[in-house]
Amino acid sequence: MSGAMMQSSFEVQINPAKIIFEDGAISKTARVVQDLGCSKALVLSTPHQADQADDLAELIGELCASTYTNATMHTPTDVTSEALGVLEDVRADCTIAIGGGSTTGLGKALAYRTDMPQIVIPTTYAGSEVTPILGQTEDGVKTTVSDPKILPEVVIYDPELTYGLPAAMSVTSALNALAHAAEALYAQNRNPITSLQAREGIEALIAALPEIAADPKSPSGRRNALYGAWLCGTVLGSVGMALHHKLCHTLGGTFDLPHAETHAIILPHAVAFNEVAVPDLLKPIATTLRAASAGAGLFDYAKQISAPTALKDLGMPEGGIDHAADLAVSNPYWNPRAFERSQVRRIIENAYHGRPPEPVD
Ligand code: NAD
Repeated sequence: MSGAMMQSSFEVQINPAKIIFEDGAISKTARVVQDLGCSKALVLSTPHQADQADDLAELIGELCASTYTNATMHTPTDVTSEALGVLEDVRADCTIAIGGGSTTGLGKALAYRTDMPQIVIPTTYAGSEVTPILGQTEDGVKTTVSDPKILPEVVIYDPELTYGLPAAMSVTSALNALAHAAEALYAQNRNPITSLQAREGIEALIAALPEIAADPKSPSGRRNALYGAWLCGTVLGSVGMALHHKLCHTLGGTFDLPHAETHAIILPHAVAFNEVAVPDLLKPIATTLRAASAGAGLFDYAKQISAPTALKDLGMPEGGIDHAADLAVSNPYWNPRAFERSQVRRIIENAYHGRPPEPVD
């Protein structure tokens, strides 16, 4: 560890989830349910992954009380209410969410209301399973809550379950995870542990994605990506996020843009902008990418692995650039580099057209 990187003061809060990581780890689910003192699990999934939920129900046999396979993006509260009804009807005593951030979100929403133990078996790189944060939507309005009850008790990472995640989705989902770690490197409340986790997560993801892009069933690529996603999710749940996340939430919420793709496009631009203020903190990204700078390196890397690079390709209207810039500066929040509306507008404009990132003076 270099003396220059040592933080002289910090506070650390470690979120107490149990993590099981292994190829084929899904076979341990029954033991995990029993270790929690439970015997009637409600298995959750999206409609798209209902078959996986059924397979899991069969795998754990009489420990499964029922399945609920209507988990929905952005965790609508009416879906949560319906699932809560099933939970009560079958007298479940724990939930098992198998899927991506949407399914995990439903499990968290149920735990928030019941404090029931949760097991999560992630099949994407969203990282939601290791954060105490729940985003939910009521009448089209998304709100976020944080509560220790929301944090899942056990996470089972089984890389084999991600083999079926299409390469394009794998790439955007992983870049979304990478964005958490990038902003953790310069977070105001970072600590030595989160910085280590962020650097390790970045290295693992950057190594994994070219392998997955070449072969979606690459065992080492899938293992590294899920390992990196765990670390990146962990830092998301531990420290505050800055300009990059603010821009993505604003753009995603205003123009209904897909979550992971928006993160993938904005990341090089937000990093290039902040790199002017904190080049040393962002150096691990440039070093891992063997690039002269982190922002430019991320942009070239995104193209190499065929990630989306232009907001216009996601359906954002060009006339929305000004509106997004207004919204992004309307609610002040911390960022390592102070910014003005004209700079944010330039970032969004560059990302809209898919131009290379720039420091933006
Ligand atoms: P998702 O869960 O919505 O999944 C997208 C689709 O892919 C779904 O139909 C899903 O069933 C399918 N899918 C998932 N894994 C698959 C696999 N291995 N093979 C084939 N299909 C698969 O997408 P996501 O990106 O994982 O999650 C996005 C959501 O998570 C967003 O709503 C976001 O806000 C939320 N999120 C929350 C947090 C948090 O801390 N609260 C963190 C990150 C993301």
